[in-house]
Amino acid sequence: MFLIDADFRSDTVTRPSAEMLAAMHAAPVGDDVLGDDPTVKSLESNAAERFGMEAGLFCPSGTMTNQIAINVHCRPGDEVICSSLAHIYNYEGGGVAFNSGVQVRSGGDAYGRIFPDDIHRLVQPEMDVHAAPSRLVVVENTANKGGGTSLGLPLLHELHAAAKSHGLAYHLDGARVFNAIVREGDRTEDYRFFDSISICLSKGLGAPVGSVLLGSRDFIAQAKRVRKRFGGGMRQAGYLAAAGLYALAHHVDRLVEDHEKAAEIDQWLSQLDYVLERKPCETNMVLFRIEASGGAPALQSHLAALGIRIIAMDREWLRIVTHRDVTSAHMEALHDGLRSFQP
Ligand SMILES: *Cc1c(COP(=O)(O)O)cnc(C)c1O
Repeated sequence: MFLIDADFRSDTVTRPSAEMLAAMHAAPVGDDVLGDDPTVKSLESNAAERFGMEAGLFCPSGTMTNQIAINVHCRPGDEVICSSLAHIYNYEGGGVAFNSGVQVRSGGDAYGRIFPDDIHRLVQPEMDVHAAPSRLVVVENTANKGGGTSLGLPLLHELHAAAKSHGLAYHLDGARVFNAIVREGDRTEDYRFFDSISICLSKGLGAPVGSVLLGSRDFIAQAKRVRKRFGGGMRQAGYLAAAGLYALAHHVDRLVEDHEKAAEIDQWLSQLDYVLERKPCETNMVLFRIEASGGAPALQSHLAALGIRIIAMDREWLRIVTHRDVTSAHMEALHDGLRSFQP
């Protein structure tokens, strides 16, 4: 056993606190597929109200909320426009094609952003029978593979206008939208111009399981059938929803601490010769490229031998993520580990 187990792989590794577990234990529950779990209902309406949306749908994962949204917005053969780094494109098991028969046209920059010009360039000509019909624009905020990039409301509004100028639906993969909101000082209701929003409770918010899909009443009514079809209808799900309600009430503002820790790590990396490049550190992620004879896996195993876990994304790039279970002892161990690495 290691003296320390410092887990910087993802903000999904957090364990529920005693207070969260108590809230889960105390939750009134029912059969949510039959429509009578009061805690699930309360989470869905709480999340919807926060974002100024009409309705919400509690789902097992952010992959499912995204996949349901795509399925409701699109028909087989349609195209979705997104960043080439998008989670829906890179990390959902080909679900866009498998679940909905939809294909992707991607563009944008190295930080996971797309711009209005990308939409105007990627959208297919409506009257051309050779082309797949463009149907949906998906943006991700913060952008995970881009390095936790916050897109900012002005860009999100411009993308909305561009999408609507072509009659496209507009979905937000907001797995980490609270990180963006806390960084920018936005209000959740500032995001209500989206047609649909997916938020994750099990990332920085620290719940063990769950995501909520938000949209109009009609959209959510359709989404509910798709959730059932995808096998995501859950019974006494109120125990899980209670953790989400607790997280929304208590774990949003503290995300600023995760951002401060990430900025500190980024600062350490800026002083290490073997670090060749860092993506801008805007929220709770640090993505960096190193030069080492063993590549990124060499640094990963050096740290692993010290009880510190990070992710090597490929031969050169590594990822460090901060979250509410990162302690000052973990931070110190990471700092020492990074400095003792012999590339
Ligand atoms: C984590 C994540 C999701 C959803 O992931 P699940 O593990 O299925 O909950 C979706 N989008 C982004 C950007 C993510 O980081």
